[in-house]
Amino acid sequence: MTPIAPFVFPGLRSRVIFGAGTIARTGSEVERLGHSRALVLSTPNQEADAYALADRLGPLAAGVFTEAAMHTPVEVTEKALEVFRNTGADCVVALGGGSTTGLGKAIATRIGADQVVIPTTYAGSEMTDILGETAGGEKTTRRDASILPETVIYDVDLTLTLPVGLTVTSGLNALAHAAEALYAEDRNPVIALMSAEAIRALAEALPAVVRTPSDAEARGLAQYGAWLCGIALGGSAMALHHKLCHTLGGSFGTPHAETHAILLPHTVGFNAGAAAGLLEPVAEAFGDTPGRGLFRFAQGLGAPMRLADFGLSEADLDRAAEIATKNPYSNPRPFDRQQIRSLLQDALEGRQPPQ
Ligand code: NAD
Repeated sequence: MTPIAPFVFPGLRSRVIFGAGTIARTGSEVERLGHSRALVLSTPNQEADAYALADRLGPLAAGVFTEAAMHTPVEVTEKALEVFRNTGADCVVALGGGSTTGLGKAIATRIGADQVVIPTTYAGSEMTDILGETAGGEKTTRRDASILPETVIYDVDLTLTLPVGLTVTSGLNALAHAAEALYAEDRNPVIALMSAEAIRALAEALPAVVRTPSDAEARGLAQYGAWLCGIALGGSAMALHHKLCHTLGGSFGTPHAETHAILLPHTVGFNAGAAAGLLEPVAEAFGDTPGRGLFRFAQGLGAPMRLADFGLSEADLDRAAEIATKNPYSNPRPFDRQQIRSLLQDALEGRQPPQ
């Protein structure tokens, strides 16, 4: 018999609409929240999709703001808030990846606006009450109930255009949430089930999407896995992997999804011995030890493998290891600066992790 340890399950708080063509339900979801004037958000890259959505919404669209940017700069949020007020908007509809979702969250937490999020990557932000913002070059992260989106529409059709490179890095970014949820200090059996299912789904779907990017069935499975990963991220305290990614992104400007993709085999490999039983779903899905299995999986997908390819140099590693070990946080395996320095060296060079 497996004993059930005491746990807290934080609950599932967002309404989710999942399936091909579900973007057509955006208007009814806006109305369901009691609103009638949505400000549609996107990055400049997805401007055409944002305007097409506004057309589809007709009178329910108050306007379109297409300047969302990575790491949610507060200047952009302030500009968007002005548009929100000038257009008489009463809610936001965020169409895009984590950057656009971040802008919607930043608006929502300032003025209490409801959010409908339509994710087009696998980053998972839409399922969390976490907001990272940058002001004066500094990134700060906070959690608050007002940040969590009310409604999320997962329309697989929108992910068909996600370039293969971003599909791979974003998919590995999602996997990182599930992997760390498995050994989180505040883990619980419900999120563990979801994480194991997410890992299984992404392990099957990502290679199929790389083979045939237009494979709607594989894209659907990848998006389903990514949704579960988002729940895992929102409902668990992340550990070494997310802290290291935060350090590299925040202090060295490395790109979000790529950093997650490169570090994942190394961080999970580092924790593999200390969390062997908990990481069983990773070993089952990818074979070998968790770190080596993930390394080969990422390699097979054509993922970036070397931090050196993203502007990080050997000279940065001492400082990165120092920043990453300055404040204590929970992790299954204790670590010191030298161990993190050595992990980063492997990731810099794209060397296979030892476990
Ligand atoms: P992103 O949102 O920055 O998107 C990257 C680029 O891809 C953008 O130009 C975007 O317009 C484009 N794009 C997105 N979907 C597309 C599609 N289907 N087809 C074509 N182009 C598409 O990337 P991301 O990795 O989703 O998000 C990264 C950001 O999200 C970071 O700022 C990160 O900190 C944040 N994030 C936050 C949380 C959280 O819980 N707060 C979680 C994960 C990520």
